[in-house]
Amino acid sequence: MSTKKMRLRTRDQIDKRVPREIWEQILSHLYPSQLSRMSMVNKTLNMVISSLEVWPRMFYAAHGPKGQLRPLVRIPSFKSSYMMFMCASSLHVCEKCFGLTEYNADKAYKLPLPIPVLLPRRSTDAIKYVGERFDPTWTIRMCLSCRQRHISNLEEPVPRDVSKDRVDWYKLCKKYPCARQTPRLYRHNVSNIAIKEVDALNLMRQHFGGDIGIEASESSTEEYDEMTETRIRWYQLQE
Ligand SMILES: [Zn+2]
Repeated sequence: MSTKKMRLRTRDQIDKRVPREIWEQILSHLYPSQLSRMSMVNKTLNMVISSLEVWPRMFYAAHGPKGQLRPLVRIPSFKSSYMMFMCASSLHVCEKCFGLTEYNADKAYKLPLPIPVLLPRRSTDAIKYVGERFDPTWTIRMCLSCRQRHISNLEEPVPRDVSKDRVDWYKLCKKYPCARQTPRLYRHNVSNIAIKEVDALNLMRQHFGGDIGIEASESSTEEYDEMTETRIRWYQLQE
């Protein structure tokens, strides 16, 4: 047997030697989209992960106890693809609170959107984070109120092009069209008070749930749902 094959086999055996309950304990700290990635490691993990309670929970959150699917797609019958299907199709379910944002939400920023979550520096670090060196692709989908709470605990870095100087309302709205939709900024418009750009940005972040929400403030739910459909089709092609 080649060394590579042996190594793979040994790793899989290690996973099998860890009792299932221990795996379930470890995996309970991960969010659904993280779990779906973890399930790709090997067959043992795929089996453990696809049988976790989190998938039916997401399914019921998205489709109700009777499991009424939107006419968009069918549910694949076998289990691991069912899990992938849930990850792809339940984009209106928040991964943190499992709340469902109504399908016909009029604004895309109200939907659960992927926001970066920081990873612990080492497995022994529970609280310290890697700071700015976090992997920006490590995101989980959070509803508006979860994102608002998330960014109040974990401030997003201020982009370089954002000034600490005061800007007038006209300039602000030119750079950020969503400033007009931010209630706490509105008084600056009425009384024509200039505000520091960085402070305005933070108020917009609070209102729209982070930079991802500001970005989505311009898009409609339809565009977002088209992206969802594309993603579901992609998952279906993988089967
Ligand atoms: Zn939530």
